[in-house]
Amino acid sequence: MLNKKIKILIIGTNNRGKLKEIRSLLPKNIKALSTSSFNLKSPIENGKTFKENSLIKSKYFSKKTNLFCLADDSGLEIDIIKKRPGIFSARWGGKNLDFKKAIRKVYSEIKKKEPNWKKKKIKARFICALSISYLNKTIVCVEGKIEGTISDKPRGLNGFGYDPIFIPLDKKKTFAEMNPLQKYKIDHRYKAFKKIKKFF
Ligand code: IMP
Repeated sequence: MLNKKIKILIIGTNNRGKLKEIRSLLPKNIKALSTSSFNLKSPIENGKTFKENSLIKSKYFSKKTNLFCLADDSGLEIDIIKKRPGIFSARWGGKNLDFKKAIRKVYSEIKKKEPNWKKKKIKARFICALSISYLNKTIVCVEGKIEGTISDKPRGLNGFGYDPIFIPLDKKKTFAEMNPLQKYKIDHRYKAFKKIKKFF
């Protein structure tokens, strides 16, 4: 636990969708730098859980910059396909992080399991592990999640990644059909962030 509030940090992600969202969660008085100002590549994410991968990133970027680092590891778990893609969510998009390709893979894996799936509710959730590290030291590591279902086809143009196929519980629109600010107020990253906002 820290006894002082963090005023300057690096956001440990090379994903522009996440960067935008994390920036919008942080209080305006925080100086939040991005990895692009340091020209840093991403570390190899060889952890077995979202939390392990989040810590790999926050420690790596902190050590590279000497700053506190806030990092996210997140992904989509789909129950019917054994909670995949899970920590492999980014990797299903291939080297070029092609999310049309990742979404096609989601649909084909679901169809293999349940040919009639469009008539059923396909339960899924987004999970986000947020961590803050300073050099090799873990300051905090928490998780947030949002439950929902998979839409029968991609819908909407906002957001990133799997947003066009995820419908949060009790909503009709996919994340990609929502106004980004509407998504940011309910999603897995927001829920994880609420648990660490006392650090800022
Ligand atoms: P990583 O945490 O950088 O390994 O990547 C997580 C991947 O999960 C992203 O590249 C997205 O494909 C997916 N993901 C995580 N959070 C979201 C979200 O809020 N919307 C859509 N896709 C997400």
